[in-house]
Amino acid sequence: MKHIITLIPGDGIGPEITEATVRAIEATGIDIKWDVVQAGAEVYEKEGTVLPDAVVESLKRNKIGLKGPITTPVGTGFRSVNVAMRKFFNLYACVRPCKSYKGVRSRYENIDLVIIRENTEDLYAGVEFELGKPDTLELIDFIKEKNNIQIRKDSGLTIKPISVTGSENIIRFAFEYARKNKRRKVTGVHKANIMKYTDGLYLDVFRRIAAEYSDIESEDRIVDNMCMQLVQKPELYDVLVLPNLYGDILSDLAAGLIGGLGVAPGANIGDEIALFEATHGSAPKYKGLNKVNPTALMLSAVLMLRHINEIKAADILEKAISSVIKEGKYVTYDLKADRNDPTAVGTSEMADAIVRKIKELS
Ligand code: NAD
Repeated sequence: MKHIITLIPGDGIGPEITEATVRAIEATGIDIKWDVVQAGAEVYEKEGTVLPDAVVESLKRNKIGLKGPITTPVGTGFRSVNVAMRKFFNLYACVRPCKSYKGVRSRYENIDLVIIRENTEDLYAGVEFELGKPDTLELIDFIKEKNNIQIRKDSGLTIKPISVTGSENIIRFAFEYARKNKRRKVTGVHKANIMKYTDGLYLDVFRRIAAEYSDIESEDRIVDNMCMQLVQKPELYDVLVLPNLYGDILSDLAAGLIGGLGVAPGANIGDEIALFEATHGSAPKYKGLNKVNPTALMLSAVLMLRHINEIKAADILEKAISSVIKEGKYVTYDLKADRNDPTAVGTSEMADAIVRKIKELS
């Protein structure tokens, strides 16, 4: 057996799109064994943890995982499994390629961007102080004493840590990614004009590391300007590297440029372990209806195959997906010109068409 890969079907639409994706991967003929483990709300109820030992052990063993989306119920003690995994395994790089495929409805054509988002620090590090709590008031007093800045007493606070280590990791990752994938330019995105000690630090690290990669063009942009540029002139950009919050927002913006969440793949990558998953969530209202688009997870599988050096299988899978979308016949409702088009097929039938196409191309 050449590859053993952890498979987490997830919940909501997760099991349907993972089943479709596994079939498409297997149709490429690569030698693969799936180590199937479960995580999600049901497992939490049984085992009392969002990250069961079976998942941790499997990923530690296999180093590579393919994951369906997992619901995070609102207003319960259940914290996001997705965030827990990224933190636990230090999957510090979130990679989201956003590429136009002919046949996907979008206002834009020929988009080919890669968003690389830092996954572990920034305002998402989870250091928060709740309105009115003694610690919060103490911190507000401390800030007044040290910085002579009076924050309103009726404030909640979130701390924004950006470290040299975290910035070096993600920025170096972006330049290495650009080199390996023959991309021409890396743009560092920040708000260093306002947040000098966090984004300023990030920008300094960006400039220092960029200087080590003379074969790759580099530039930096302030995040608000970057948003406008992406909407007006996306063709000017290539690989973007961003701290956590800006990365989260801009990866959805870039997904919007290529036609939405149904076609936006992703990967969470650390030094040892890599976990591949779609950008979208578990869309609970479509659970079990054999309705949603499997493309985003299938394109995440393309990234996975490239990561494990199965380049031929990755190319065939991507070609099969793009030609089924371009033909526009065996596609899900969201890829039809009219979302109520009765000729739209289900998740499973779209996967059948992709499997047939893979056989033709192989
Ligand atoms: P969502 O991405 O699940 O769905 C939003 C809407 O996007 C859906 O109602 C649907 O219209 C559309 N959509 C999503 N995926 C699609 C697909 N494959 N094909 C066609 N249309 C699709 O976002 P949400 O409703 O905000 O989140 C639902 C749950 O998913 C929440 O509990 C959230 O926490 C979780 N979530 C999980 C992940 C993850 O596992 N990585 C990521 C995001 C959200």
